Amino acid sequence: MTMADDTLEFDPVCLDHVRLGARPLAVFDIDDVVLQFLVPFEAYLTSLGLRLIPRSFRLHGNILASATEEALPDDEVSALILSFFEAQERWQTPFAEAVEVLHDLARTADVVFLTAMPPVYAIQRRRLLDRLQLDFPLIATESPKGPVVARLHGGRPLPVAFVDDMVRNLSSVGTHVPDCLLLHMMPESEMHRHAPQAEGLALRARDWREAERILAAHFLVD
Ligand SMILES: [Mg+2]
Repeated sequence: MTMADDTLEFDPVCLDHVRLGARPLAVFDIDDVVLQFLVPFEAYLTSLGLRLIPRSFRLHGNILASATEEALPDDEVSALILSFFEAQERWQTPFAEAVEVLHDLARTADVVFLTAMPPVYAIQRRRLLDRLQLDFPLIATESPKGPVVARLHGGRPLPVAFVDDMVRNLSSVGTHVPDCLLLHMMPESEMHRHAPQAEGLALRARDWREAERILAAHFLVD
């Protein structure tokens, strides 16, 4: 059995709760697209006597103990990310206009959230999104996003769009769903200055209003 098979068995992506209508589909990443991630994660680190040094677009290797200035080992950084997901309801808030734009878009398209995190934290995320009145279907998985969007969309003759801050996710969806509009959206931060760019792969939206214009045009034109 290969590693990929193991992963598939450990993290089966259940789509049964997602019901799509005969209309366009807009799939959104959550962290640093709908909800702030980096800013509240840094606040969380500070509360633990840690700090992030944005030397590259990675958390691993860039989190230091404030007292000693020593970088935390990778396994401790991985554990911190999971404990932040566990505590997310106390820390994460939406980006300006995200909630309003999502509701506007939902008048003409099905909105689905596809978040890259262990499914065990989907309960916390669901509660947080519901509290913000973002009651759109949520898929939480660590599997590559392209095959998930391909399964969701299923080659329907309808417009489809995918919005994410990570180039590797945009690239995965672009590979598996060739007719998908790819939209790169990420916050401005010292760390995001090191992030890979998506030129030639995806369109870029600097904020939610710009994203709304691009998506609305795509859904109308197609
Ligand atoms: Mg993200």
